[in-house]
Amino acid sequence: MKPLPDAPLSYQMLIDDVWVDARSGERYLRDSPAHGIPIGDYPRAGVYDVDDAVAAARAAFDEGAWPAMPGALRARIIHRVAEIIREDAEDLAYIEVLESGKPISQARGEMESTAALWEYAATLARHTYGDTYNTLGKHMLGMVLREPIGVVGMITPWNFPLLIVSQKLPFALAAGCTAVIKPSELTPGTTLRLGRILQEAGLPGGVVNIVTGYGDPAGARLAEHPGVDMISFTGSTQVGKKIVAASQGNLKKVSLELGGKNPQIVFADADLEAALDAVVFGAYFNMGECCNAGSRLLVQSAISDRFLERVLERARTVPVGDPLDEATKVGAIINQEQFDKIVNFVEAGQSDGATLALGGRDKQTGNGRFLEPTVFSGVKPEMSIAHQEIFGPVLSVIEFETVAEAIRIANSTFYGLSAGVWTRNIDQAFQVSRSVRAGTIWINTYMDGYAELPFGGYKESGLGRELGRFTLDEFCELKTIQMHLGPRTNWWHKPED
Ligand code: NAD
Repeated sequence: MKPLPDAPLSYQMLIDDVWVDARSGERYLRDSPAHGIPIGDYPRAGVYDVDDAVAAARAAFDEGAWPAMPGALRARIIHRVAEIIREDAEDLAYIEVLESGKPISQARGEMESTAALWEYAATLARHTYGDTYNTLGKHMLGMVLREPIGVVGMITPWNFPLLIVSQKLPFALAAGCTAVIKPSELTPGTTLRLGRILQEAGLPGGVVNIVTGYGDPAGARLAEHPGVDMISFTGSTQVGKKIVAASQGNLKKVSLELGGKNPQIVFADADLEAALDAVVFGAYFNMGECCNAGSRLLVQSAISDRFLERVLERARTVPVGDPLDEATKVGAIINQEQFDKIVNFVEAGQSDGATLALGGRDKQTGNGRFLEPTVFSGVKPEMSIAHQEIFGPVLSVIEFETVAEAIRIANSTFYGLSAGVWTRNIDQAFQVSRSVRAGTIWINTYMDGYAELPFGGYKESGLGRELGRFTLDEFCELKTIQMHLGPRTNWWHKPED
């Protein structure tokens, strides 16, 4: 097992290609959620630091080479970033484990997925193109150009730090945008390391700027800043609504990737062995601190007792503990506030009349903050544990009889991020897939992700899409050009000669 660092790793922010401290000189420390020792020491940005970062990104967009650089050259730099992420994967994964408490084996997998996002985005840098209309008459040619939207402010959460910024940044760079990034105050380490990687890959100065600090004031200033053309935000629905409100000053574009309360719907005819593994994975992967967590199990009554028994048996054996241990599958909860929030939901589930069938308790391991995998049975859709995002290792089991009832329950929350459906009946699979209002549906699989496939939410789970070729539209403006050809024939007013 890799040893813990002797002292916290110390970082600076990246503004206009220079590594700097906050103007105020203020800093803050972060403890490892799994080990209770300080592991990171970061500048605490204020409003003026954000203003400096936006000014640098603005100048790099308005006067710099990046937006008009040939796509092939941009692609080369973006691709080089992917290569360096692969070379540095072990160090990056280690930082993620220390800051977020996630298991090391999982963090390594995330580095691989992150590199894949940069590789895919590099290909898009050469495929940002528009349209032409040769059908407007003999004297007219219409052209539609895609242009980069400008300076993009990116605000990211703590649960998949490098992966989530990489669902935004390489695509924005491929489109020709410049950026200011404000990572979560809890997990900024790998985003700052990415700054070094961008420099090594040859990205021109000022194109990407990184400020560290809290939502208020750093995130809030970025969201309202008149020099920012778009905010790309991933985080809670609650803060997402604040971002929309803050954007109104200059009507900047907003794209939002928000929370979820995702159902896994298991029909009696499903491959129950495969469904079982996916249900346990969906509920406890990343400690359940996952927008895509399959936090609701909707199970058909005919098999519900036996299936629940098997879920409990399997969940009991999931290894919880030190995330630096290669065997660990469930690590530590991110901070005390989140831990208390989860425990409050467990209490609410019990007082609402659901049955606490497993877990719900603190799991004492070293100096960390761990929770046992938890299962509630007998859950009704109106209970808070059935419709609110808990963001912890808590599974709520709800029974249904018919396809129509499963669809109704699946759609009974404000969220619409993703859903899983388990059945061997193709008609049933598609009936559910077409009727559940969610951005992603997995059929007989769960939580796979591909750079090619768009990701985002219906309802209060978000606005816009990330990944896939459609994501370029998010980071582009369309410009229409209409050109007259040949001698003018249709005069508006021309006195007779
Ligand atoms: P959060 O909303 O508390 O914070 C997200 C980011 O916003 C952080 O960087 C934070 O500092 C910043 N912030 C906080 N207040 C702000 C304000 N007033 N103005 C501007 N920025 C502000 O979310 P979190 O706790 O970091 O992450 C968990 C949430 O993220 C969950 O709801 C989860 O579902 C969601 N999430 C969604 C996706 C997705 O792709 N849909 C992915 C991961 C996480």
